[in-house]
Amino acid sequence: MSSTTAKRVAVIGGGILGVSTAVHLLRQGASVTLLTEQGLASEATGRSLSWLNSAGERSTPYHQLRVAGVDRYRTLFAADPSREWLQFGGGLMWNTAGQGDVTEARHAYEQSIGYDSKLLAPDEIAAVTPGIDSGAVPEKAIFNPGEGWVSLPDLVNFLMEEFHGLGGHLVLNAGKASVMVDGGRATGVETAAGGTYPADAVLVACGAATPAVVKPLGVDIPNGSPVSMLVVTKPVEHDVTAVMNTPRAAVRPNPGNTFALDHDWYEEHITEHADGSFTIPDDVVQELADEASKLIAGNPELKPASWKIGYKPIPGDGEPVFGELGQVPGCFVAFTHSGATLGLIAGELLSGEILTGAKHPMLATFRPGRFS
Ligand SMILES: Cc1cc2nc3c(=O)[nH]c(=O)nc-3n(C[C@H](O)[C@H](O)[C@H](O)COP(=O)(O)OP(=O)(O)OC[C@H]3O[C@@H](n4cnc5c(N)ncnc54)[C@H](O)[C@@H]3O)c2cc1C
Repeated sequence: MSSTTAKRVAVIGGGILGVSTAVHLLRQGASVTLLTEQGLASEATGRSLSWLNSAGERSTPYHQLRVAGVDRYRTLFAADPSREWLQFGGGLMWNTAGQGDVTEARHAYEQSIGYDSKLLAPDEIAAVTPGIDSGAVPEKAIFNPGEGWVSLPDLVNFLMEEFHGLGGHLVLNAGKASVMVDGGRATGVETAAGGTYPADAVLVACGAATPAVVKPLGVDIPNGSPVSMLVVTKPVEHDVTAVMNTPRAAVRPNPGNTFALDHDWYEEHITEHADGSFTIPDDVVQELADEASKLIAGNPELKPASWKIGYKPIPGDGEPVFGELGQVPGCFVAFTHSGATLGLIAGELLSGEILTGAKHPMLATFRPGRFS
């Protein structure tokens, strides 16, 4: 075993970024301790729409990273296409009536960068993707055949089997853990109860809490994380395979013949309480389910089974934050929007940086040092 593969790494955060990086580290022979405040997937990873995509317009490095992210999911999918929690049924989007020119401009942009994009009249949708009520589509829609979706809690369970098989050490209910520093370098992790976990390198993958966890280290990472909600419906018969992004509801199939629903129009109805919990009126949740029902062939009645509310991790400038802190060598961060799409590729690239010190060129524009 070489000296790099003997490295001890402590990962803080049991969401997809922490779990994925931990497993990639273990695959390369590192000794890994994964600590998380409560259970696994307790925050954004447990309530994500997790549409796998790079649709629309963004910076070229971010687009390239997302395309690589989708690629890694395709590899996982190819190993067993029967998994109910990872499917590639494409993505379908449209805008409100009167915004057909916006839809056409988006399609033209996607085509210009080689992103698979088809502009469809409502009566052409059934030929490319099943189960949609085309009557809900006011003008043209875009179908992106290369897109998919994942159920992140299932992916976390899947990766954790490998984590345990490779001898990873899991610390649940660690409370708010923090990074230990000695002589300006990260030396491990300390839990709220006083437990210490010495390590050669530490990864902070705490989702929307990442800026707060690195703040005591003198590192400022702007936080733009909004509050959002994911609703999971009761089971219903349907033929939908695509993820739908529409003016009043985002909808994806979910294991067990259920749907996962998301949007942002109801954010003003969410109340944050003094203890940090969130509530929303039941009738607003039902309204989102009713909006989703209009998009599905036969307009089945959708009944919300559960809904979860909390912060959606988004760095202040919208771009991912990946890599080692210049101020604290040995301490790495992973904080990003679209963490579902990036979950596998980010774990792969970051684990390489943590173990070898070689900086991956695809992460060059996403360094935390840009805020210094
Ligand atoms: C409603 C919604 C829709 C989304 N839709 C999409 C989408 O369509 N496509 C896409 O690609 N992405 C999407 N995302 C984003 C994606 O789900 C997230 O980026 C991803 O799940 C974040 O994973 P994470 O590991 O960074 O953070 P999280 O899942 O939030 O995990 C962070 C973990 O760190 C723990 N933690 C925090 N602080 C501490 C501490 N001090 N000590 C110990 N543990 C700590 C938390 O308890 C938590 O377990 C969506 C997110 C939401 C909420």
